Parts: sequence; C-alpha cells; structure tokens
Amino acid sequence: MIVILNSTATKDNVQELIAGLHEKGLKTNLSEGSHTTIVGIIGDTTKIDIDTLKGSSFVEDVKRVSEPYKAANRKMHPTDSMIKVTDKVTVGEGIFNVIAGPCSVETEEQIIEVAKDVKASGATLLRGGAFKPRTSPYSFQGLEGEGLKLLLEAKKETGLPIVTEIMNLVHIDMFSDVDVIQVGARNMQNFDLLKVLGKCSKPILLKRGLANTIEEWLMSAEYIMAGGNPNVILCERGIRTFETSTRNTLDISAVPMLKKLTHLPVIIDPSHATGLSWMVAPLAKTAVAAGADGLMIEVHNNPAKALCDGAQSLDPQQFDELMNDIKRRVEFEGKTLG
Ligand code: PEP
Ligand code: MN
Repeated sequence: MIVILNSTATKDNVQELIAGLHEKGLKTNLSEGSHTTIVGIIGDTTKIDIDTLKGSSFVEDVKRVSEPYKAANRKMHPTDSMIKVTDKVTVGEGIFNVIAGPCSVETEEQIIEVAKDVKASGATLLRGGAFKPRTSPYSFQGLEGEGLKLLLEAKKETGLPIVTEIMNLVHIDMFSDVDVIQVGARNMQNFDLLKVLGKCSKPILLKRGLANTIEEWLMSAEYIMAGGNPNVILCERGIRTFETSTRNTLDISAVPMLKKLTHLPVIIDPSHATGLSWMVAPLAKTAVAAGADGLMIEVHNNPAKALCDGAQSLDPQQFDELMNDIKRRVEFEGKTLG
C-alpha cells in the first residue's frame, strides 16, 4: 500500500504517520521526490483503516499495490535507486557502468593483466568468477578461495571494485572484501541464499534465472530487500527459448519493462546472452539504446585458451574498440560513463 502525501504535509506529520504504522508492526519506506512524498507500507495492511488515513488533511491518496513485489516496486519508490558501490562508483539511472573481466579467475597474471586492460578502456568494475556453476562436474570449477584472493590483488593493483559470484551461503564470510556479490542465473531462486544476502548491506547483482519471468525475478529481489538490503542491481543475461543459434535469447524488452515496474538499476550481460563473441558488440549497443544502466562483459587476455566461456569472451583490443563506441552512444543518451 502507498500513502501519497500532499504539499501541506510537514516533517512532523510524516514522522507521526510512520511511527503509527511501525506501532502496528508494519514496515515503511519513505520516498521524497521533488514533487511528491510517498510512504510505502509493507506488511499486513488489513490493520490499516484506509478511510481514516484518507481523511488526514495531509494525505492526498491511499492506493493498494497489487503486485506481489512491494519494496522493489516503483509505485513504492518512484525515483530511481542509485546503488553506491564505492565513493567513486555508483550504479543507477544516468550513470552507465561497464563491468568487465574474465568468466573465471585463472592465474594472477591473467586477472591482473585483464584488470589493467579493462580499466584503461573505461570499465568501472572488474568481474571474475572464483566459484563457478558449471553444467559438467568435469569442467573447471573455479579457484574458489584462491580466486577471491587473486581478485583482491587485482583490485589493489588497479583500484577497480570487484564483482564475483557466490554459490553457497556457507561462503558468505569469504566475501567480506568483495564490493558487489553476484547471484548467478542458476541461483536466482535459491531463497536461503537470498535471505542471507538480505542481511548484509553489500550491493547484490541479481542475474535473471534461465527460465524465469520478470515477476519471479522481482520476487527474488524482494527477498533480498525484505531482509533489509535495498542494494539490488538486476542483470538480464538471456533466457531459454526454442532458439538454439545463440546460447540464450537476450530479452531486451526486459529493460523498459523493468524500468516501468521497478526503481532498481538494470544492466545487460550480452556475453552469456549470446555465447558468441562477435555478437557481444551489437547487443551491447542495443542495451545502451534500450535504457540499460550498464553492461557486464566477459573479457579474456587469450580467449582461445580460456578455461571457461572463451567463445563469448572479447580480447582486450576488441573490448577497447567496443568501449570507444559505447562512450559515444552513452553521451548521445545524455548519460555519463561511470
Ligand atoms: C557468470 O556471470 O559467470 C555466470 C555464470 O553467468 P550466469 O549466471 O548468467 O550464467
Ligand atoms: Mn561466463
């Protein structure tokens, strides 16, 4: 439920209203825009007498939020959420951030070389998998704790904040120096993991499940937010369809749809969406035009020798060329590169 306040509402009115709702055991979310102030209410709203609330002199209107996702709903929070990663890096509307790096951390030389290259080309965050969800148990599973250490080395070397995937909630303590924790497609509905991530305050990059609807995805974001962590970034990475010529099918329409339904930032991962390195650039450009807040792109110093996802990885030169093009397009959209 949302309470839309009118221009006569004072700070005291707002505080009194919120305190009253908290006394009823409800959670609130205050959203102060330049034109309207909205108090979002989450919980058992049958405890609220809507007519009495509507009768308050400072209340413009009271509306039910019919969608099952509440905290993630734009109706609760009309302005775009800006997710602060570090003092220098913020993800959200108007700032276009590019996360780049290899699918997996392989060696110290590899991750540091790639980190330096992608930074020089304009990436603002470094990615690299330490815990890898692989379809085959015989495939490279990632360097795990050692991989996290190497990522931290690369962070020290370049200053780039790091994004890496958590697969199991028992590993959470190992992620204390990670800047953005990624939840991969295969774990989008690992609700126990989402609950644990809701208890930390780090930004969470929540990838869309292989075959999940936008509503299911937003409900997963809701799990994290309901736990008390509002810092969720959504990442569309392609969905399963009948098409087999690409690894997945990029659902570009998810970008405008999410922008309408939620206030959370939305980024695109064209690498996993296609599985084809030559298709990364055209889809990255499409993401800018569709209104995405950023990209996640796999870059490897030697894609032919990559232990994971080489076929979809750009080499540093290709990434640099793409970034030069992306910069112009981001400016055209009236945004700044993060
Ligand atoms: C990844 O980003 O390395 C990854 C495994 O992606 P996804 O979960 O989207 O398949
Ligand atoms: Mn990958």
